[in-house]
Amino acid sequence: MAKKNTVIYIISDRRSGSTLLENILSRSAEVFSVGELAMLHGHILKKGPGERWNWTCSCGDPVDQCVFWGPVLQKTWQQNQQDFNSNISWNYKSKKLLSVALLPFLFRNKLLDITGSARNKNVQPTLDSLYKAIFAEAGKTFIVDSSKDPLQALSIYRGKRDYHVKIIWLKRDMRATAVSKSKWKELNVKKQKSIGKILTDVFYYRRLSLAVTGFVKKEDLLKMNYEAIALNTQEQLNRLTNAFGLDDYKAPEYMFVENDHTIGGTPNRFSKRPIVYDEGWKKEFSNRKLLYWIGGLLNKF
Ligand SMILES: [Zn+2]
Repeated sequence: MAKKNTVIYIISDRRSGSTLLENILSRSAEVFSVGELAMLHGHILKKGPGERWNWTCSCGDPVDQCVFWGPVLQKTWQQNQQDFNSNISWNYKSKKLLSVALLPFLFRNKLLDITGSARNKNVQPTLDSLYKAIFAEAGKTFIVDSSKDPLQALSIYRGKRDYHVKIIWLKRDMRATAVSKSKWKELNVKKQKSIGKILTDVFYYRRLSLAVTGFVKKEDLLKMNYEAIALNTQEQLNRLTNAFGLDDYKAPEYMFVENDHTIGGTPNRFSKRPIVYDEGWKKEFSNRKLLYWIGGLLNKF
């Protein structure tokens, strides 16, 4: 029996290994990886995140001139620029979402107010038209979208569509994510926050992601951990291929980008690196024992 077209959407926080997972998945002959589709609109307009690589596709061309995205945009963006919107706008720190973060399963319906709001109403139709055009152009059964945004995932999952949507919720030890975000901010000369404050934000974001997974049927959801993927890549890949019906294949030992057409992602994805588990973040907690302990506890919620 022919397989049904399937979008695999990765929900995760930033600095949690989504580029690694996307990279591993992109080695399957059945998969076309789009990178972070949410950023496509910004890449067309050359606005928002992406300035570092001048908003080009990973092939180096501007998206409208890229051999892959050019034809896709002809069928989508060029047909209706006015209503084109690839990115849900919301603020995860909004006080309105506090009740959802505290009691996700009781208040999760509040999230539908955001996905259904006037400013976001075009996102699902836009992504639907994009996915259809990408399936046609790529000729693959699976699209991997590592946009990461839980509300984007919710919008796609609940939309009317003729393909499957499967969700991976990728988690990493929140303390590691907080340290990585803190270093990332240093590099980008943003206003620096304490590790404790960043950890609180990471926890809040995770609770909202948990609320979103409450809408997803069991057979459409796979929870994964960055640590397990880095340590036991093949075993974790097998879990994934079994759950979502991909053919088995050999897990790569290195991550690298080669001849692909991905949008967004971390800029260092272009360097070839071995897939290894790095615990270097732990030394940032050598003088913060209490915070280390609290972070470990929060990981369990
Ligand atoms: Zn390209």
